[in-house]
Amino acid sequence: MESRPEVLVVGAGIMGLCTAFALRAQGARVRVVDAVAAPNPHASSVDHHRLIRHSYGAQHGYMRMVDDAYLAWSRIFAALGEAPYVETGVLALDEGVGTWLPESRAAMRAHGLAVEDLPAPALPARFPWMSDARVVDAFFCARGGVLLARRIVELLAARIAPGIARVREVHDGAVTLEDGTRLSADMIVVAAGPWAPRLLPGIAPRVTASRQIIVRLAPPPALAEAWARAPMLLDLSELGGFYMVPPVAGTPIKIGDHSFSRQGDANDPREASAAEAEAILDLARHRIPGLEHYTPLGAMACYYDVEPREEFVVDMLSPRSIVMSGFSGHGFKFGSVLGQAVANAIINPALRAALPDWAAGRISPPPGLLESAA
Ligand SMILES: Cc1cc2nc3c(=O)[nH]c(=O)nc-3n(C[C@H](O)[C@H](O)[C@H](O)COP(=O)(O)OP(=O)(O)OC[C@H]3O[C@@H](n4cnc5c(N)ncnc54)[C@H](O)[C@@H]3O)c2cc1C
Repeated sequence: MESRPEVLVVGAGIMGLCTAFALRAQGARVRVVDAVAAPNPHASSVDHHRLIRHSYGAQHGYMRMVDDAYLAWSRIFAALGEAPYVETGVLALDEGVGTWLPESRAAMRAHGLAVEDLPAPALPARFPWMSDARVVDAFFCARGGVLLARRIVELLAARIAPGIARVREVHDGAVTLEDGTRLSADMIVVAAGPWAPRLLPGIAPRVTASRQIIVRLAPPPALAEAWARAPMLLDLSELGGFYMVPPVAGTPIKIGDHSFSRQGDANDPREASAAEAEAILDLARHRIPGLEHYTPLGAMACYYDVEPREEFVVDMLSPRSIVMSGFSGHGFKFGSVLGQAVANAIINPALRAALPDWAAGRISPPPGLLESAA
């Protein structure tokens, strides 16, 4: 492939936009198309926030990849002239249900991160909005925070200016649009989020669209100050537990669950039923006392594309097409570095063989895979 390849990216979520951004920085000719105007409010990437944290249980490859992601985000933010990120720290709690928390703690310490053990009875004094009910193990890590996802997508989309076109079929080095038009390029990148199983029937056995409910809340005025200092919360219980995003930069508190529904289709309506919202709140009631005094700001269904082991699927579909998929509930934080890696592998074909194993968190990046032109 020549050094200024022509690349067509399908999908203007975080993966497609970061890939296009990195390709442009390398002088490639890039065109991005999306079925709707970016940011698509139904895309996985488009919500107030997405979390970034090193706690990854025994998945050490992803823990290490977080450092590469932070570095790649700092380059992108410098180029955009804005850093839509708020460091909150990470509070992880375990009700004695598994190995994820101790494995995370051990791996993070071995990686050189400061991880503070917290005795359960000390939690409410430090975090006045919470109860220590049923907590048997807890830690706090100051590194970690909230990426303001919608703002990042808006900024990238303003730079990249995606076109509007719905792709019906992907071929080797070409796509067919819904209206029958055929577009060709030296390389096609397909980053279609939870629509990937529809567009690429070949990956449907590996990747499933999954309907996930989130609930938004405002804290009672008496607790507003305590909430303004709150870290993200990862709460693991027998029922699967929940995560909580604190109200940073004018955004609401957000609560969602850790379990995959593996139900639904990304084109389904996004309203959440009252029962679905209650089921999420029920996971958090014992942890956030007085939840009934919080102001409900709405609940909705969001979709992501689940890979059973939560390993990303970044691979050649054919000699001139690449898929980026299977990002489950943890892909956004890595958009910066995955985009850089895919761009580099397009420019330098020798890097392509390492992409699938590196993106699945199984190997370290080979020299050159994460290098930036900036
Ligand atoms: C509720 C929820 C919470 C999450 N929390 C976190 C978190 O805390 N931390 C984290 O790192 N990750 C998190 N994630 C996961 C993360 O958001 C996703 O992994 C990531 O946004 C996936 O980005 P994407 O670009 O692959 O897909 P998307 O953002 O969905 O983008 C795909 C784009 O492709 C377009 N498209 C689809 N089909 C076609 C077609 N045929 N033709 C043209 N265009 C098409 C769509 O319109 C869309 O704009 C969460 C996801 C959800 C839903």
